[in-house]
Amino acid sequence: MSKSPATYRPETRLVHSGTLRSQYGETSEALFLTQGYVYASAEECEARFKGEDPGFIYSRYSNPTIAMFERRMIELEGAEAARSAATGMAAVTTAILAPLKAGDHVVASRALFGSNLYVLQDLLPRYGIETTLVNGANLDEWQRAVKPNTKTFFLESPTNPTLDVLDIPGIAEIAHQAGARLIVDNVFATPIWQSPLALGADVVVYSATKHIDGQGRCLGGIILSSEAFIAEHIHNFMRQTGPSISPFNAWVLLKGLETLGVRVRAQTDTAACIADVLANHPKIARLVYPGREDHPQAALVKKQMRGGSTLIGFEVKGGKAAAFRVLNELKLAKISNNLGDAKSLVTHPATTTHQRLKPEVRAELGIGEGFIRFSAGLEHADDLIEDLTAALEKA
Ligand SMILES: *Cc1c(COP(=O)(O)O)cnc(C)c1O
Repeated sequence: MSKSPATYRPETRLVHSGTLRSQYGETSEALFLTQGYVYASAEECEARFKGEDPGFIYSRYSNPTIAMFERRMIELEGAEAARSAATGMAAVTTAILAPLKAGDHVVASRALFGSNLYVLQDLLPRYGIETTLVNGANLDEWQRAVKPNTKTFFLESPTNPTLDVLDIPGIAEIAHQAGARLIVDNVFATPIWQSPLALGADVVVYSATKHIDGQGRCLGGIILSSEAFIAEHIHNFMRQTGPSISPFNAWVLLKGLETLGVRVRAQTDTAACIADVLANHPKIARLVYPGREDHPQAALVKKQMRGGSTLIGFEVKGGKAAAFRVLNELKLAKISNNLGDAKSLVTHPATTTHQRLKPEVRAELGIGEGFIRFSAGLEHADDLIEDLTAALEKA
C-alpha cells in the first residue's frame, strides 16, 4: 500500500492495518502459533535482549499475530500504543492496578460491569488503594470525590445495563485538573461509535470478547493509550506477570475486526428498529435506547457518539415473574449473560450480572426486577420484532 493505513477511513483500516505479511505472501493474516523464536547467532540473540534489534523474543511479551491485532486496534482507536490481554478483565485489572501503589485513590462511576466493581471495591483495598464510587452522570460528585492522592478515574459509557451515557470530556477535564488519568471501558459503545481518546480520556480498555469477536468464540482484551503510558506502566507489568493473549485468540479477533464495522452498523440498525417498535408497547414501563430522542442524555449521545447502540434496555410491567415469562417465551433470542454476538442475546440483570448488588443499590442504578437487556444480533429485524412482541403478549 502506498498510503499509510492510518490515513484511510476506519472501515479500510479494519481490513488492512497492521498486516505483517510473511515471505509466502499470504492473503489472510498468518497465525503464528509459536511460543518462541530462534536466532541466527548468539550476537543477534544478545542484541534482541538489549532491545537493539526489534524482533520477537517470547510470546508472553510479543508475537507477530498478536502484534497485528494490536496494530489494527491502535489505528482504529487513534492510540499511540496498545497491549492485548487474555480477557477483558485481564485488560481492566492491568490498566487499573499496574500504575497504582498503596496510598493511591480511585474515583469511579457506580454503574459498572460486576467484575470491574470487584477489582475496585474488593481487590484494590487489600493493597491499600481506596475507591470512591459516584453517580457518574453527576459531574459535581466526581469533583467532590477528588482527594490529594487521586490518581485514576474509571468509567463505562454507555453503562451496563441501563445504557446511561456519561460526559467523557467533562469527566476527563475534572480528572486532569486533579492530576489524575481517565480510563474508559468502551465495550458498550464499541470503537465504531465512540473514540474516548479523542474525547479526552487517557486510556481505553476493551473486552474483545464482545463485539470485536462478535461471534461468540474467544475471550480477549486490550489496553490502548499513549506510548508513554504503555511503556511506563503496562509493558513491563504484562511482560513479567503474563496475562497474555493466546496467538490463536488474537488471530480470531484480528479476523473479527475485518467485519466489525458492518456487524456493529447492522446490529445497531436492528436495535434501533426494535426500540422504536417496543417504545410504546403496553407491557413495557420504560425503554432506554441511546439514539432515541427520549434517551435521558440524548444531547450527550449526539455530542460524543457517532451512532446508537447494539443494546436496548427495557422494564416490563409485572416485575421478575413477567420478565422471566418473556425470556422463557423467546424462540430466537437466547438467554445469556453475554452481548455483542451475531446471535441476539437476552439478559435479566437483577438475577445474573447484577445479582451480587443489594436490592437498594440495584434500585438506585435503575435496574428493576422487570428490567431486561437485549443485545441485537445479525438476524432479520422483523424476525426479532415478531419474537419479542409474541413473548411480550405472555408477560
Ligand atoms: C464483558 C465485559 C468485561 C469483561 O470482559 P471479559 O472478556 O469477559 O473478561 C469488562 N467490561 C465490560 C463492560 C464488559 O461487558
